[in-house]
Amino acid sequence: ELRAEAGAPLRPGALADGTAVPLLANLGSPDGAAEAVRQGAEGVGLFRTEFLFLDAAEAPSVEAQQAEYRRLFQAFPGERVVVRVLDAGADKPLAFLNHDEEPNPALGRRGIRALFAAPEVLADQLGAIAGAAKETDACVEVMAPMVATADEARRFVEAARKAGLSSAGVMVEVPAAALLAGHVLDAADFASIGTNDLTQYTMAADRLLGGVAELQDPWDPAVLELVRSVGDAGRTRGKHVGICGEAAADPLLAVVLVGLGATSLSMSPAALADVRASLARFRAEDARTLAEAALAAEDGATARAAASKAAEGVR
Ligand code: PEP
Ligand code: MG
Repeated sequence: ELRAEAGAPLRPGALADGTAVPLLANLGSPDGAAEAVRQGAEGVGLFRTEFLFLDAAEAPSVEAQQAEYRRLFQAFPGERVVVRVLDAGADKPLAFLNHDEEPNPALGRRGIRALFAAPEVLADQLGAIAGAAKETDACVEVMAPMVATADEARRFVEAARKAGLSSAGVMVEVPAAALLAGHVLDAADFASIGTNDLTQYTMAADRLLGGVAELQDPWDPAVLELVRSVGDAGRTRGKHVGICGEAAADPLLAVVLVGLGATSLSMSPAALADVRASLARFRAEDARTLAEAALAAEDGATARAAASKAAEGVR
């Protein structure tokens, strides 16, 4: 059982051999920051800004946004806080960004595509984030959702630099970006893999549809191969590759993801304790052994069983 004992200490995330694996929080509002800190989050790996404005009819002002970001950053002095720019569209439409009816919203003008179509909204948001960063001591980074190409990564990083933000990365949640991770990472400061959408697009299975839930399995070796592609590209370039999808919250899969090259894991704060305890049981070479076992499987269920068996062998 890969579970934390009650009252386990809030050490930073690390493997048994001391390899640091920062454990970060996924948040949708500054209100969640206190609980994340209580659970020992070493920062924020994914701040879902679109959740702040789901009911807004008009684009929020720079001042209104800056107040929210400031409140978040103040909870994490000296720590990494990764703010995702608005991921509007599909399951999270925003009235001021998604104007058109689309037959396939998950494949439509969503995420960074919608922001490139409304450059003033992107510039305002980056300005608000940069302004709040200057007012606080958090190490603020920004990232773009739904990036498919190196050119999109380059355009986003350029916009972030223009706003005065020194670290700008991309989410890898479109298979194309994972397959060409080298080019994408050459254009960005870091990558963070969104396994929810990466699984949806790899398996062509709507993440909201119960009828195809069985295919929505981040253990599927096809998804793991894509994670490895990004991990390899990050390692050869000395760039961070985080994971910020729900897969990072699975204590065994978290070890596999580290074995595939993930350098940090971000998850709902409630999952931090079990993942922290699980990582502490394996060395880096064990994590790679688990990853190889999972990669060699033919589907998600067998991958999980193979990793589980490999884990028995090394513990
Ligand atoms: C993801 O797709 O894995 C992700 C972290 O982003 P969201 O769940 O907000 O789409
Ligand atoms: Mg996503």
